[in-house]
Amino acid sequence: MKAELEQLIALQNTDTSIRRLQSEIDSIPQRRADIEKEFEQRAFEIRAIEMRRDDARHERARLETELQEQRTRLERAERNLMSSKNEHEYTAAIREADAARKQISQLETQVLEKMETLEQAETQLKEREPEISTMQAEHEERMKAFEEQTRTQTEQLAERRQERDRLMESLPKQLSATYKRISTRIRDGVAVAEARNGSCSACFMALRPQVMAEVRRGEEIIMCDNCNRILYYVPADTAQNKTRPASAASEVVAS
Ligand SMILES: [Zn+2]
Repeated sequence: MKAELEQLIALQNTDTSIRRLQSEIDSIPQRRADIEKEFEQRAFEIRAIEMRRDDARHERARLETELQEQRTRLERAERNLMSSKNEHEYTAAIREADAARKQISQLETQVLEKMETLEQAETQLKEREPEISTMQAEHEERMKAFEEQTRTQTEQLAERRQERDRLMESLPKQLSATYKRISTRIRDGVAVAEARNGSCSACFMALRPQVMAEVRRGEEIIMCDNCNRILYYVPADTAQNKTRPASAASEVVAS
């Protein structure tokens, strides 16, 4: 029975590890989004400058097109002025040319303003280039580490699952069924609990001396009267190596 108890403990350790890994893996999208969000927050100021630069660039292009239209308008007006045949045509051409010139002057001012904004933004971005590249490098590094971690966790989960199947198979049918029944019913999934200092370490209920003595002997499966977990006892001198049965158990053939 002692060997079987050790297998149960190993199974419990494996299940706990599976649950932890599973919850880590379930939170991957959220954790990835958190990293992206943090980066976006850090990059916010830079994004604002980039936006100002892009806006100025587009606006300038639009103004240049308009300016070209007004220049064409002025040329046409000047041609009309040269070929005007009467007072009326002459006045109209003069008026048209003046209006075009006025527009051109305004547009040229606006283009200059946009160019200034554009240059300022570009200067700022250039000045902050080291900061930007550091930030991007850090972010890429973090994402890489994150992807690496999730890959490892996924691999570990697959390994633990195999280990679990192996442990389940090596246990006597009745015992594995008992374990399954308890672990699915109990909220935290922990079906095995250490009896320590005369109490169940899972529910903290004091154990009757006779129960404690039986658990200590380890000859049969004893359950906690209160939480129904399978109890086991770790002698004081091996208490620090509690996780060791996990590796030892695999070599023990259940009887
Ligand atoms: Zn208990």
